[in-house]
Amino acid sequence: MRMSSKAKILVVEDNPVNLELFADLLNVGGYEYVNTSKGEEALEISRKESFDLVLLDIQLPGIDGLTVAKTLKSNASTKHTKIIALTAYAMKGDREMFLEKGFDGYIAKPVTMKEFLEAVEGYLKGSNEL
Ligand code: MN
Repeated sequence: MRMSSKAKILVVEDNPVNLELFADLLNVGGYEYVNTSKGEEALEISRKESFDLVLLDIQLPGIDGLTVAKTLKSNASTKHTKIIALTAYAMKGDREMFLEKGFDGYIAKPVTMKEFLEAVEGYLKGSNEL
């Protein structure tokens, strides 16, 4: 059995089109996932369930992605969960910013199926750390 088929992923994305796309891609990859469009809800879900990976949009209504990441990384039960930023801002300097903010990596939107699944698999295996 592939490791990825057992991995559990939390997807936090407020854009419904992106959220549906990520859900479709994770289905293709055989991943188990939970999704939400709200930062508050992401934190609530994370208190009840554990995940191998959190795919986290930065711009969210209410609590934003940076705050969600900071909160998860400062909590003993979630600090080892890998957090990958879903960002439209693939700019120079982002790598340092995301590292500093506690992220383990980032995926730039828009994504292709191949890029997305390879990135998710890589982060789960620890082969493409930021
Ligand atoms: Mn957003």
